[in-house]
Amino acid sequence: MFDKGHPELSIIVPCYNEEAVLPEFMKRMDAACRACVGSNFEILLVNDGSRDQTLDIIRTFSAANANVVGVDLFRQHGHQLAVTAGMQLCRGRRVMIIDADLQDPPELLPDFMAKMDEGYDVVYGQRRSRKGETWFKKMTASLFYRGLKLLTETDIPLDTGDFRLITRQIVDYMQDMPESHRFLRGMVAWIGGRQTALVYDREARFAGTTHYTPRKMAALALEAVTSFSAAPLRLSMLMAFVATTIAMVLLVYVFISYFYYDSVPGWASLGTIVLFFSAVQLFCLGIMGEYIGRIYFEGKQRPITMIREVISQNTMNQENRQDV
Ligand code: UDP
Ligand code: MG
Repeated sequence: MFDKGHPELSIIVPCYNEEAVLPEFMKRMDAACRACVGSNFEILLVNDGSRDQTLDIIRTFSAANANVVGVDLFRQHGHQLAVTAGMQLCRGRRVMIIDADLQDPPELLPDFMAKMDEGYDVVYGQRRSRKGETWFKKMTASLFYRGLKLLTETDIPLDTGDFRLITRQIVDYMQDMPESHRFLRGMVAWIGGRQTALVYDREARFAGTTHYTPRKMAALALEAVTSFSAAPLRLSMLMAFVATTIAMVLLVYVFISYFYYDSVPGWASLGTIVLFFSAVQLFCLGIMGEYIGRIYFEGKQRPITMIREVISQNTMNQENRQDV
């Protein structure tokens, strides 16, 4: 079907344990695509090492629907890399990234397309509200986006996720970025070009629970900061400066007590000073360690994603994908 070049539209859907949602998602996504571009589209369902029936469901969809391309990864790569795998394989002129859990409504597709028709390279979904999410999640998300804005030189828009429509060119440039630590929305922001927001209300999860535990959210936040900012390295300089100033004040105190009082064996102040400085040093070492660790992992140059199988009715299509 796609032999005559690129389909109009690719939809990339990372799926981890989404058996409860996928049928409903596919119904709505497929309908939205058909209404927009006829049958000239592909939906890439990327199975990110699910432990439930997700892969079997994807196989069933692919067998029944020529527009569905299943992608099975060797193991769980995580959300960002699952989307990356989809990007490596997708062939559409425009590419939409959307979650499987129906928090991002597929029915917004025509709005995204219309915005892009105005000449934008990137139309990103910006959340006006988040339904069905905990107070904790909303607060940490809000803090995260604002903190990131403070720290990074790249202007990453507030309250946006990966739900967005991007052009082929942007996808190609992202493929040219070799890093294995990938914070996609930051990378898109870094590329720049003509970008605009589409404001929407985020729905509650259709079924299942979030896979982003507080720990994973913290990891993503660290990823975002260290990938896009060297500010923390400078922070250690700042702390060294503050520590030196405090040390000078302490020195004055030491001299005064030496000359004017019978200086008592100052184990207490000594202890304080040692503690303070070792804490600062450890913290600085920690920051350095984060960055050095990243250099170490990038230096390995391992494959970013490992794809076991592409599940599609169109074998021709699969061969074409190899050189994309
Ligand atoms: N996901 C994935 N791999 C993971 C975690 C999540 O592919 O390790 C997918 C998941 O199936 C969903 C999307 O990424 O389609 C967003 O995940 P989730 O809804 O759990 O995150 P939240 O919306 O709560 O941030
Ligand atoms: Mg979700």
